[in-house]
Amino acid sequence: MSSLPVLVLNSGSSSIKFSVYEAGIGAPQKLFEGAVDGIGTDLGKFWIKDDGKKLVDETPALPTRAVAFKMVADALNSGRFPRPQAIGHRIGCGGPNVQDNQRITPQLIDEIESHAALAPLHTPIAVYIMREALKLFPDIPNFAVLDTYFHRTIPEVASTMPIPQEYAAMGVRRYGYHGISYESIVYQLQPEVPEKLIVAHLGNGASISAIRNGRCINTSMGLTPTGGLISGSRTGDIDPGVVLFILKKIAETTPDALQAADKLETLLNKKSGLLGVSGLSNDMRALREAIQSGNPRARLAVDKFTWTIARWIGSFVAELNGLDMLVFTGGIGENDIDSRAEICAGLSALGIMVDPRRNNVRGLATISAPESRVSVRVVPPAEDLMIVNHVLRLSERDSVEDEPAMILSDLH
Ligand code: AMP
Repeated sequence: MSSLPVLVLNSGSSSIKFSVYEAGIGAPQKLFEGAVDGIGTDLGKFWIKDDGKKLVDETPALPTRAVAFKMVADALNSGRFPRPQAIGHRIGCGGPNVQDNQRITPQLIDEIESHAALAPLHTPIAVYIMREALKLFPDIPNFAVLDTYFHRTIPEVASTMPIPQEYAAMGVRRYGYHGISYESIVYQLQPEVPEKLIVAHLGNGASISAIRNGRCINTSMGLTPTGGLISGSRTGDIDPGVVLFILKKIAETTPDALQAADKLETLLNKKSGLLGVSGLSNDMRALREAIQSGNPRARLAVDKFTWTIARWIGSFVAELNGLDMLVFTGGIGENDIDSRAEICAGLSALGIMVDPRRNNVRGLATISAPESRVSVRVVPPAEDLMIVNHVLRLSERDSVEDEPAMILSDLH
């Protein structure tokens, strides 16, 4: 494996996060990381840091995404930092014809863009950044690493949506997300990946996956990240009748169908979930504080969250026909001791028992009680590293084989 700096790009609605890894012999090492945040505002943030030391710390105006990305590209092309030799783009969903990680070409971008309606909150941003990266780094290969890639193994019975099949032909199916995080957990468990594994990625966005022998067999998110578990501000799975009721209410004051659909999309994604039920916050820390002060809506929102996750764990145990290991990851999974305890509290019949003393940790740990049939662990994700690994393999082979060899020692 040749030595080369790899840039990882992760673009959101108001920020572009990036990191650069030096990849050579042994594990890729992070050289530096940074972000432009506050796109669309007059007082954005642009920082780059290396091992906690700020190398760039500015508060520029970031009126557009174009200005923000040019700022990143100019810094990386300036000669002040090791110049990337390959770029990995974290891509949400490429649509039905783009299931494999691959080199980005203008044709690939057009194909992904042609299915933007399937993921309207994410694809247009990803498409923009891919096009700009090809322009601003014309001499460097760019690769798309998909959050759906890990879920390509789920069976048709799990991926099929129960709707008229003309919509399936348009690409409407369960894709699943957080795949790079799940893959990074399996990677870190090597060489002892359990046969029957459930991973709960609980962050501001939350999902859960059932994994057999390292391959995903089902996941809670669906066509979009709105489906599955209740999360910070998204509904998760919900009776379609509720969606129709709200849509009709919105239509009373917004007769234009597309505008009404946009309002509905915002309501389901930005105003629901923990925020919607609590009426207070989408943030678990804020809700835990409110619970401490006796706020009943915060208590209900968090109960709804942990109750939903426990039910999904139960259904995945049925799907796996047993369970060897349960892993918590993501900001809540790693840090919220109470959520882990509350989720597992009613699952002893499934062999899941958490030791309160061991559970009193943040970060990598085994938290199951000695008598627990199922091993319960906390494992932080290593998503950027996973993207770098894919970029390295793709730059060597230009195509990913079915199951890349993953070496535990690479990580530590
Ligand atoms: P993520 O999207 O993975 O960054 O996770 C964000 C979520 O993790 C938010 O709901 C945070 O409140 C939650 N979180 C982060 N740290 C803690 C903590 N120490 N205790 C409880 N929740 C936390």
